[in-house]
Amino acid sequence: MSTSPTRPAAAAKSSHGGSDVESQRMRRRTFAIISHPDAGKTTLTEKLLLFGNSIETAGAVRGRKSERGATSDWMDLEKQRGISVSSTALTFEFAGFQVNLLDTPGHHDFSEDTYRTLMAADAAVMVIDLAKGIESQTEKLFRVCALRKIPVLTFVNKVDRRGRSPLEILDEIERKFSIEPVPQNWPLGSGEDFRGFVDLQDDSVHLFDERNSSRRISPKVVQWSDLESIEPSIASDLIEATGEEVDLVRMAGATLERERFLDGSQTPVFFGSALTNFGIEHFLHGFLKLCPPPGTRQQVEGSLPEASSSFSGFIFKIQANLDPRHRDRVAFLRVCSGMFQRDMEVTIARSMKKIRLARAFRIFGQDRQTLDEAYPGDIIGLVCPGEFRLGDTLCQDEIIHHEGLPQFSPEFFAVLGCADTSRRKQFDRGLTQLVEEGAIQVFHDAHAKQREMMLAAVGELQFDVVRYRLESEYNAPTTLSWRPYKMVRWFNATAEQKAKLRLPFSSKLALDQFGQDAILLQSKWDESVLHRENPDIRFEEMRVAS
Ligand code: GDP
Repeated sequence: MSTSPTRPAAAAKSSHGGSDVESQRMRRRTFAIISHPDAGKTTLTEKLLLFGNSIETAGAVRGRKSERGATSDWMDLEKQRGISVSSTALTFEFAGFQVNLLDTPGHHDFSEDTYRTLMAADAAVMVIDLAKGIESQTEKLFRVCALRKIPVLTFVNKVDRRGRSPLEILDEIERKFSIEPVPQNWPLGSGEDFRGFVDLQDDSVHLFDERNSSRRISPKVVQWSDLESIEPSIASDLIEATGEEVDLVRMAGATLERERFLDGSQTPVFFGSALTNFGIEHFLHGFLKLCPPPGTRQQVEGSLPEASSSFSGFIFKIQANLDPRHRDRVAFLRVCSGMFQRDMEVTIARSMKKIRLARAFRIFGQDRQTLDEAYPGDIIGLVCPGEFRLGDTLCQDEIIHHEGLPQFSPEFFAVLGCADTSRRKQFDRGLTQLVEEGAIQVFHDAHAKQREMMLAAVGELQFDVVRYRLESEYNAPTTLSWRPYKMVRWFNATAEQKAKLRLPFSSKLALDQFGQDAILLQSKWDESVLHRENPDIRFEEMRVAS
């Protein structure tokens, strides 16, 4: 498998002047794709890379796909410590921009990492299968984007196959997400009758040619008004029906406003077909026009540093044993401001400890490429000697705290036991370390005298990771016993309110690892009871750890 990455733009000069940082910032776009498995994320990624002229990296995407296994295969880490659990960002150049595409793991890898990766993105692209509409994982990820105010572009994929009507898809987006979908193009036919799309900005028609599926060739473009005369092979009733739909969409009157896209109240919708490479270039241009440059939405405690001022960034992911050749831990940092230079000395804002960043990489699967410089929006891998924690801010001159990473409602709960009592000390030490690192969440029963430590995670795979790491790094084998809870709702309440709490029978009042009050619930039904019985208290499904 070839994983050679494209090199970053040659434009990075050694000058440290603010204007250089500013020009590098302005040409970067950092985003993530959110989708349900099989909607076409891998195929779209590959086609984007094709336009970015990164063919070899596209091969890496395929490689990852074939390596992705079921959860149970994951345990076979000798085979597995590869790109499917560890890739972070693919980089490509297009139209003068450096695009950083953050990798959100697929279905079987679904975990808190998937959510946290979104925290490092300036925008998200939601890929929807025309035939299936909005599926469960897309919905979960969209909600995280909405909570964090990450603007979302929509790509409705597989228009070359028969699916739902485009109007139905728009309606579903609006209904489920309370966001206004604003189509940017409109498909001309579908399935065997798919002939292209109408660009709603300029009324041109981009004609579909399946032979271009693996080439960077722009489609033939004609004006809508000339379509019938230039392309007599397109049935006139298809042109008429499409014309009626386009009129209907226009009459609905939605026009895209960048501000409304940025504040999450509108999503531009592009129809296309990743497999046949159709609509990708049009989408990419639309994306570049809309996606904000880095730095405009990073929230910080205290004052927001100028993006071009001194270096700062935050750690959004820590990955252990990434590669059998390097048995170490890698912290992934998103650069927020200033310029990163290898060997620079930074301060970890939480501990105020100074640390020299000597080992910094761009990471592609199992390949590491030493990185000398990076700019706002870039993702770097730092080999981490146990100093970093998730959510840590690293900064150069002025001490700032980027807002902490949110904690998301877990969906799996279990108690981990130490299988070999002679390894108890190692078990405790390892678990403490993993919890601190953010690999897993912890809840205690708020009332019980003997405080049983319950571990909790968004994805089941996180338990496999923790158990594997305890065994391989601390030589502490474990036992696991599941608990029936399905979600957490955090809340703030006065002592008086707490005394009056009315909880569903099967729920539990708990404290998380930061001592924050929370309720563990077994079902959506219980959740609705909780809200109904305690109308004065706000229950949250996400909280920013402090
Ligand atoms: P992922 O799980 O979201 O990464 O999905 P993939 O990119 O692996 O695609 C899932 C399946 O859908 C594969 O068999 C693809 O070949 C197919 N696929 C992806 N995009 C399209 C498309 O535009 N049209 C058609 N007909 N099939 C597609």
